Amino acid sequence: MSGKPLQALNNVQINAKNNGIIRTPGKASISKPENAHHHHHRRQKLSALCKTPPSVVRTRNGRGYHRGLFLGEGGFARCFQMKDETGKIFAAKTVAKASIKNEKTKTKLLSEIKIHKSMSHPNIVKFVDCFEDDVNVYILLEICPNHSLMDLLKHRKLVSEPEVRFFMTQIIGAVKYLHRRMVVHRDLKLGNIFFDPDMNCKIGDFGLATVINSPSKRRYTICGTPNYIAPEVLGGKKTGHSFEVDIWAIGIMMFALLFGKPPFQAKDVQVIYERIKRNEYSFPENSPVSREAKVLIQDILQTDPTRRPTLDEILQYDWFTCGPFPSAVTTESLKRAPKGFSFLTKEESRINFEKVKGQAGIGRSSARRTGPTTPVEILKSDLQSERPRTLLPHSLSPDNNKDKYREVTSVNIKPYKRGLTMELNRANFESRMATVLNEALSKSLMNMKQIEEGASRPDPSYQDESPVLVSKWVDYSNKHGFAYQLSTGSIGVLFNAGHTVLKNPDYSQICVVEPETVNGWKISLIESA
Ligand code: ADP
Repeated sequence: MSGKPLQALNNVQINAKNNGIIRTPGKASISKPENAHHHHHRRQKLSALCKTPPSVVRTRNGRGYHRGLFLGEGGFARCFQMKDETGKIFAAKTVAKASIKNEKTKTKLLSEIKIHKSMSHPNIVKFVDCFEDDVNVYILLEICPNHSLMDLLKHRKLVSEPEVRFFMTQIIGAVKYLHRRMVVHRDLKLGNIFFDPDMNCKIGDFGLATVINSPSKRRYTICGTPNYIAPEVLGGKKTGHSFEVDIWAIGIMMFALLFGKPPFQAKDVQVIYERIKRNEYSFPENSPVSREAKVLIQDILQTDPTRRPTLDEILQYDWFTCGPFPSAVTTESLKRAPKGFSFLTKEESRINFEKVKGQAGIGRSSARRTGPTTPVEILKSDLQSERPRTLLPHSLSPDNNKDKYREVTSVNIKPYKRGLTMELNRANFESRMATVLNEALSKSLMNMKQIEEGASRPDPSYQDESPVLVSKWVDYSNKHGFAYQLSTGSIGVLFNAGHTVLKNPDYSQICVVEPETVNGWKISLIESA
């Protein structure tokens, strides 16, 4: 999808136009209803960084996946087909590790993984697995071969009311499930609703999803995609937002499908925001869309979030029962407006509506739901588990230097072999140095002062050592890692996978420094040949 979510938008970005952050819709705005901002750390073009994965990706527990076709890319990830050893095909959302440069991005990715992993609903893209190699993090998902609702709208220009009734019911079922589990998706839009082979809707992309820890708690980060942003989100710090932003987005999607473009569409994103704040939209004249549809849209798109109908109330609206309701949508819909629906009787439609609701986990039959139904909880430890240090080389992270120095001083040595005290001390020292240096270097800035500060941390065992500096370096971190030479004569490489290899010409051992969850770092000495 071309639209990218906007995150943590600040005034500078709001006011910045044509600087590459904001994409304004061109003439073909109908085909691009989701032009969006990128938050600065997601904005960066990743194609250069996210190299095509190798033809076979091996997971830690030995499974092998064969990479297939390129499926598409967002601002954050590229998607590839992946086939497992039994021939089953998945979609692999691939995120370049090099793009996960700071704590915030890392936390976001881990939270996306945690939330998505815990989801189990027929209308939510299934999370299959998550693994990594040296360059990428892979999120393996159920494959949705029939693209998204946005692609459907692009081809069809307008989508018929019976089809929209069907899609809306499935989407509402999934959103009900999310909200019951205290998750707000915050980026519901046509491009994030995918189709399975049977044209069932599947909500995907949990990149902006958030957990509301207590019912009264609100969120304040301005995020979403311009056309779909609820007015209270634009209020930012003042108002805060919650579950109702997803309901607003449902109204926007319904409008877009029935009228061909989102209600607040404009060339200039600023104008979109102004229109949203003033609730300035209108139904195109001469449209055959029913009065009942407009009534529902109007009720959803209310500025005051508390006045919007709840998901259950939405399903009570006449619109769902005032016309044909199909029992299923087929792939014929991808090409043309399906014909047969007008022959459905009122009774048949009523039965279909009940059936589709049941399948989407709405109503009585929802008792048969599988998977977790309790609120999702994100614990601090979740964001530290999933091997984040190896997931993301800590030292490649540019900000939060204070924390990193703290981590450096908590280095704990666990030698593999005994009797190497002398070398260990040296290795220990050098590795500490290397860590500090790597951090500074990874910013591609040689800030000597900072390095000296890091090196001269009071520490009784190393006080006599003179600061070690980097004499040379070469940055191959977009490929393998960061290579450098220290003033001690040691040469080292910080590999993208997170470990450092150091070799001092005076010693026969090679020192390997690996990030480790318990002790911070593990240092081992390998006898070199
Ligand atoms: P981002 O978080 O960067 O926006 P998305 O999750 O939107 O990434 O994925 C980017 C693109 O990959 C989508 O626009 C779509 O073309 C494709 N894609 C994503 N998930 C799937 C899937 N489950 N099946 C098929 N294609 C997918």
